[in-house]
Amino acid sequence: MQRKIIIFMLPLFMAFAAGAIIAMFYMQTTLSEINSLIKLHGIEALRKELIISLQEVQADLYTVHTPAGQKLDAIVTHVASLESSAETCTSCHHESSVDGQINEMQAKIKAYQRAMSFYITASANKERVDNLRHSAAVIGNDLLLMTGGMSAKASNKLAVVTSSALGRVNKAKIVIVITTLLSGILGLLIATRLALSIIRPIKKLEEAACAVIKGELGYTVTVDDTTEFGKIAETFNKMSKSLEKGYRDLHAEVEERTKIEQELRESNERYALAARGANDGLWDWDLKKNSVFYSNRWKEMLGYDDGDIGSYPDAWFDLVHPDDRQQLESKISGHLDGHTPQFGCEYRIRHKDGRYLWVFNRGLAEYDHVGNPFRFAGSQTDITERKQAEEQLMHDALHDALTGLPNRALFMDRLNQRLKRIMKRKKENEKYLSAVLFLDLDRFKVVNDSLGHSTGDQLLIHLAERITASIRPGDTIARLGGDEFAVLIEDIEDRAQIDKITMRIQNMIKRPFHINEQEIYTSSSIGIAFCSTGYEQPEDVMRDAEMAMYQAKSLGKANCEIFDQKLYSSRMGRLQLENDLGKALDHEEFILYYQPILDLNTERVIGFEALIRWNHSKHGIIYPADFIPIAEETGLIIPISEWILEEACRQINVWQKKYATDMLHMSVNVSAKQFLDVDFAAKVGWALHNHCLDACCLTLEITESVIMANDEHATAMIRKLRDMGIHIHIDDFGTGYSSLSYLNRFAVNALKIDRSFVMKMSSDNENREIVRAIASLAHTLKLDVVAEGVERADQLKEIRDMNCQYVQGYMFYKPLTVEQVESLLESLQASFIS
Ligand code: C2E
Ligand code: CA
Ligand code: CA
Repeated sequence: MQRKIIIFMLPLFMAFAAGAIIAMFYMQTTLSEINSLIKLHGIEALRKELIISLQEVQADLYTVHTPAGQKLDAIVTHVASLESSAETCTSCHHESSVDGQINEMQAKIKAYQRAMSFYITASANKERVDNLRHSAAVIGNDLLLMTGGMSAKASNKLAVVTSSALGRVNKAKIVIVITTLLSGILGLLIATRLALSIIRPIKKLEEAACAVIKGELGYTVTVDDTTEFGKIAETFNKMSKSLEKGYRDLHAEVEERTKIEQELRESNERYALAARGANDGLWDWDLKKNSVFYSNRWKEMLGYDDGDIGSYPDAWFDLVHPDDRQQLESKISGHLDGHTPQFGCEYRIRHKDGRYLWVFNRGLAEYDHVGNPFRFAGSQTDITERKQAEEQLMHDALHDALTGLPNRALFMDRLNQRLKRIMKRKKENEKYLSAVLFLDLDRFKVVNDSLGHSTGDQLLIHLAERITASIRPGDTIARLGGDEFAVLIEDIEDRAQIDKITMRIQNMIKRPFHINEQEIYTSSSIGIAFCSTGYEQPEDVMRDAEMAMYQAKSLGKANCEIFDQKLYSSRMGRLQLENDLGKALDHEEFILYYQPILDLNTERVIGFEALIRWNHSKHGIIYPADFIPIAEETGLIIPISEWILEEACRQINVWQKKYATDMLHMSVNVSAKQFLDVDFAAKVGWALHNHCLDACCLTLEITESVIMANDEHATAMIRKLRDMGIHIHIDDFGTGYSSLSYLNRFAVNALKIDRSFVMKMSSDNENREIVRAIASLAHTLKLDVVAEGVERADQLKEIRDMNCQYVQGYMFYKPLTVEQVESLLESLQASFIS
């Protein structure tokens, strides 16, 4: 703005300056004219003076020598002033013509002076005086004439100079008027323009300020001005924006605060409501005064009336169970000392009626500015029911529901504690024996199956009671599951004592049980493991006791066996085998043997059953019965089975191509774990795909027990496999406990009669009938029958008579190596061609 004003004022100033300069110029020239005028006036006065002097001198001339005129001195004075006037006149005439005249005049005056002096001094001669008076008078007349001419000239000159001075004065006047007018108009224009450029932004700012006042925060003014107003507008806009932001922030904060207040109010209300309805007792401890406020509910919870309990802390602490008091006090002081962010403690507190309630107390302390607690408040919740439920749950989790005895988990825990104590005692050189007895009922399955599960359960309950009665109270008896029990006998002095206890248990069990008006006889096999032989883990003791139990069982009913060196070696052997089995796949130690299966109608080989062998680097050929169970237990069966499936599919495909017999089948045994694998069908699919084998050439042999144990899964899996076109045979048929009625639910192709029945057929009528029943059942269900284990001609005859179409057995072929199969196929091909 400042610049703008300067820019606007500059032309005004310049116009003024120009006008003033021009006026000054005219004034200056007018002034010199006026000066000349003044001088001219001076000359005129002189001239008049000169004329007067001359006239006086002339007059005196005629009076001097007369008796009337004695004025000689006056004439002298007039002549002297005449001379000085002439002198002055000379000095003020510049023109040369005037100069000439002046000179001439001066000369005349000199002559006049001379004439006068002659006149004055010549007083004796009257004629001479008259002559002299005459010449002086002539000269005086000439002078008067001369001054008259000069006066006329001077008057002319004065008139000219006066008119010229007036003209200049007029011009100066015009210039001043024009300049003043122009400056006035320009000033007006500038003032309007300036006023507009000041008023407009001020108006805009005013409008904006009004808008802001009305609440239009954030209102901005358009900035197209670079002057101070532009800056003010910019600052205003910033201010308005900042006001708007500030307002928004403030608004948000106000909202937030309102919300918080609302929440706080609700929370307070809720809290008050909750405190009233929560059933919790409240307490508020003034630590400075050491007095506690106990709410009515607090007192009521413990069976007291309002006035029964004072306001001392001890009124509370004295009711706490002695065993829990220390814990409570240390938790409180821990919190008051600032070690815990919150106080919480579960403890027992005595009800007025004497029983103890379980309560949960929680609280919070308030601290002053130096960190000292001054107030401590909280609540007390009755958790007796929850505690009881927890105890029940804990009990249930650690006890067997049927017999109420400790379960495996609790037994293992006790055994673990025992082992730890033994390890500690060993260091102290104390010798007390502990042993685990592993019990398994003989023929319990028979009881269950024949007399029903409820009788079975009753038997187990009675059994538990009898075993408990045969041991000392400090010993632990547990039901491990099914008909398996374990007893932990502690601190016995010698092994003979164990024998006695075992005998006692055996005898108790042997006595008849009276259940549901029936007399039931049973016995148990017991395995014993002594804890003192360097065990660290309870599982190891259990494993050895179980192993001893199996050993006892293998010796017949009601036996007892101690885990000893022999069993230890066999366990170590098994461990070694387990270890080797893990590496066998990588070392390519597995081989497949193939046992031909024949069609009795055509007496031709229709396929093979793949049977695995383990070519152990140290032990030579190991049969599947000796390692498949281990593989099942360790989970190694999965990779092994996958290898078998791939290998069998590859091999049959090779033979099909080599001997151009795409009718050849391959039967592969399926293990329990393999069948339970949800990806099993997919894996089979891959094996077929990998070796370009038609699904109808693959038969999977699944044992009856595997199918029965996983009813739903089996139905679905078999359906899936059948849909793929694969044949399913039920292996070892007749050995399980399966219900025949289930059979039609599984979409199988054939039953494989277990070799144990076939082999005992001729010696045992019962077995023959079983085989016959299976065969006729299969025919009814339109299933094929494969008889395995056919070793002799009489067996074959029986099988034929029973219309079993397919056979497999040593009588025809033993499991063969690849080479043997190939030479067989070659010879068969040759005989077929010939
Ligand atoms: P299995 O499936 O019942 O297999 C038939 C068993 O009977 C084979 O024993 C076979 O050699 C034998 N056998 C066949 N004919 C006769 C005979 O006339 N007389 C006698 N005494 N035995 C005969 P192996 O090969 O020792 O297999 C035993 C069991 O091991 C099989 O019983 C099967 O359950 C399992 N096993 C064999 N190979 C595999 C396999 O690759 N995978 C799976 N998961 N299990 C297999
Ligand atoms: Ca089989
Ligand atoms: Ca079999």
